[in-house]
Amino acid sequence: MGENRFVYMDHAATTFTKPEVVEAMLPFLKDHFGNPSSLYSIGREAKEAVETSREKIAQALGAKPDEIYFTSGGTESDNWAVKGTAFSRQKKGKHIISTPIEHHAVLYPCEYLETQGFKVTYLPVDEYGLVKPGELEAAIRDDTILISIMYANNEIGTIEPIPEIGKTAREHGIPFHTDAVQAIGNIPLDLHGKDKHIDMLSLSSHKFYGPKGVGALYIREGIEIDNYMHGGAQEKEKRAGTENVAGITGMGKAIELATANIEKHSEEIRKMRDRLRAGIQEIPDCRLNGHPEKRLPGNLNFSFEYIEGESLLLMLDQMGVCSSTGSACSSGSLDPSHVLSAIGVPPEISQGSLRLTLGDANNEDDIDYVLEVLPQVVGKLRAISPFYKPASVCEK
Ligand SMILES: *Cc1c(COP(=O)(O)O)cnc(C)c1O
Repeated sequence: MGENRFVYMDHAATTFTKPEVVEAMLPFLKDHFGNPSSLYSIGREAKEAVETSREKIAQALGAKPDEIYFTSGGTESDNWAVKGTAFSRQKKGKHIISTPIEHHAVLYPCEYLETQGFKVTYLPVDEYGLVKPGELEAAIRDDTILISIMYANNEIGTIEPIPEIGKTAREHGIPFHTDAVQAIGNIPLDLHGKDKHIDMLSLSSHKFYGPKGVGALYIREGIEIDNYMHGGAQEKEKRAGTENVAGITGMGKAIELATANIEKHSEEIRKMRDRLRAGIQEIPDCRLNGHPEKRLPGNLNFSFEYIEGESLLLMLDQMGVCSSTGSACSSGSLDPSHVLSAIGVPPEISQGSLRLTLGDANNEDDIDYVLEVLPQVVGKLRAISPFYKPASVCEK
């Protein structure tokens, strides 16, 4: 094998912080340490930075600045949207609709609400992970108070038909939340245009080259939602806690960079991804998980039969490649990926799954390198597998 490189192909887990973003944050970690609620000049400067960032985020999403609330990240935004809506509307009903392929930041709040007397319908998804808007229509009841369906899946990259889902929700007058953490910066969003039926939307800065520990929840004007954090009067008394000024400033810069020329940029990523995909599909006994076209531009998720994802990941790491797997151990639980299970991948096959997510850290040399090392690593692991008999070619 050639010389060892460092190849970061786990952009769905997190992204590096862009230098311009770090630069924008530094003043607020140094001299400009004021509390945005304080009235003297360094307080006012901090307040101004927070408001400028709010405007940038609103601009990037096609929202109004007043509809953007800063949080500590995607997990908090999801928890707030789901539990805040459930508790504020529980007199109207206690039924929620979601899907089995949501991120745990939506799934676990739903499961918690089930212990509090709420009922949750998890819509079935097809073999690609797509929700059928007709199934949503059929699941809606008189006591449905919230629909939460993710924009794009973090494991298999499948992009849901959000405009149609939103339209159905709006026709029934039910608030619609979407976890758009994986979508922002990868596909264009427009809350004034095609996405106009979304009522709440979660975003997380570290998934689009901003700092960790900061995110936002978009809440459409007029949507009622209980507070999640109680305390000070920040964020129009809706989300207490002194603002993460440096983080918020970095997030504003990051979303500006991530959404400028987004079509052209995601096309470049998609091209690189497709070359990698074609190369990997030459490896026998592998299959692509998720939709062949309706997927995030940087996402690949393959299952390699007769292999343990964990071993694959560790051997790739030795070769300098950062990747991710839906196999049991790495997810910290004994069950294989809930997403792969929901799309019908049998456990013995989801054990051998590998997620590669491309982004701004990658170039064509990275693709060449992965195409050089991955087949070798897969071959080595299969050579020591008692079950492997070379047979079919990859299912396209
Ligand atoms: C990463 C991620 C989250 C969690 O965001 P954090 O900011 O890390 O808390 C939620 N949903 C999806 C789809 C994600 O990919």
